[in-house]
Amino acid sequence: MGCFDEFCIICSGPFSSDYNGNTETNWLKNVVVMKNDKSDAIIGTYDSYGRVVSLDKTKTIKISNSNVIPPYIGMKSSDSYAVHTACWNICNKPCNLNILERNMDLKGYWSQVFGFRKLEKDKQYWKIINPESDSVDGKKNLARIMDYFNSFCLYAFDQKGI
Ligand SMILES: [Zn+2]
Repeated sequence: MGCFDEFCIICSGPFSSDYNGNTETNWLKNVVVMKNDKSDAIIGTYDSYGRVVSLDKTKTIKISNSNVIPPYIGMKSSDSYAVHTACWNICNKPCNLNILERNMDLKGYWSQVFGFRKLEKDKQYWKIINPESDSVDGKKNLARIMDYFNSFCLYAFDQKGI
């Protein structure tokens, strides 16, 4: 038994948040799932095993983010991919993404368990501070994410509801 991280297409950060009980990373587990068929997005929390449980706990959705650049050849309409709820909010709540390249900024820290310690050592920790927060690091991360989004997202459909 182990836990398996998946990574946000928009910011490249992990969906797991357990790092020394540090509450400032709690936002990482809050995710929104989108489907290729452009049906309504689902808000939930990541379970650390490749699944997202909806906030009302009525749905569990398997995601496969690790190698996904939506939409991709062979992608089924039922295929689901996820982004952080905070990243989704700051990018205007799209119900689908069409991107040129997923964000790989933090790829050096991707592994079965995200390299939080290495990130801190490399002084890159601000890249996992909530971009919706008012802190200096949060604002810095917001700018990083929006730079990526504005350069590599071709379009995002309007969100109709949850
Ligand atoms: Zn993100």
